[in-house]
Amino acid sequence: MTSEIIDLTTVKRDTTFVDRLSPDGRLLRRCIQCGTCTASCPAAHAMDLSPRQMWRMVQLGLEEEVLSSKAMWLCSLCYQCQVRCPRGIPLTDTITRLKEMALKRQLAASRESAGFYRVFTDVVRRYGRMREMEFMVRYFLATNLLNGLNYAGMGLALFIRGKARPEFPKLGGEGRLDKLFERVAELEKAQGVGR
Ligand code: SF4
Ligand code: SF4
Repeated sequence: MTSEIIDLTTVKRDTTFVDRLSPDGRLLRRCIQCGTCTASCPAAHAMDLSPRQMWRMVQLGLEEEVLSSKAMWLCSLCYQCQVRCPRGIPLTDTITRLKEMALKRQLAASRESAGFYRVFTDVVRRYGRMREMEFMVRYFLATNLLNGLNYAGMGLALFIRGKARPEFPKLGGEGRLDKLFERVAELEKAQGVGR
């Protein structure tokens, strides 16, 4: 979580940001900064903006800062914040909307995270489960190959312990999730979202 002070007199703001967020941006104006969302969030410790900070920045129109943050990409869509928010704000649904906006803008943080999601779902769809070695190789090829070198030590340790194997044994789940993925694609198309 950030402790950085933002000077609102100099930073660029767009006060229409909150209203452009669905399902209903007006609801976000109700936030009273109680912090229940942050206290409920299992991923808040790893986020650069806590959920409470993020919603305040949305209210203030700090669009660039919010969409450039990695916080939304660490959200696991667990709905804890949404069900506990005393103001009844659909927070989790709004995080999904933030992701869509960030993807459209092609900001660096969203490109990397979108690459992670895409490769993860492709691997799971193909094999019916995660195949770690293939996932790691494809993720770093799709995003930042040099960054992969930072994880070489961890990969080697996993390999030595037999947790990651270069050979690809048949897993038995091939193609079994196709219908599920096709249904999700249909729903996304109907809602005008998705890849
Ligand atoms: S729980 Fe709701 S009201 Fe409280 S800080 Fe979070 S968004 Fe605002
Ligand atoms: S839905 Fe996302 S932001 Fe909300 S508590 Fe869960 S992980 Fe945190």
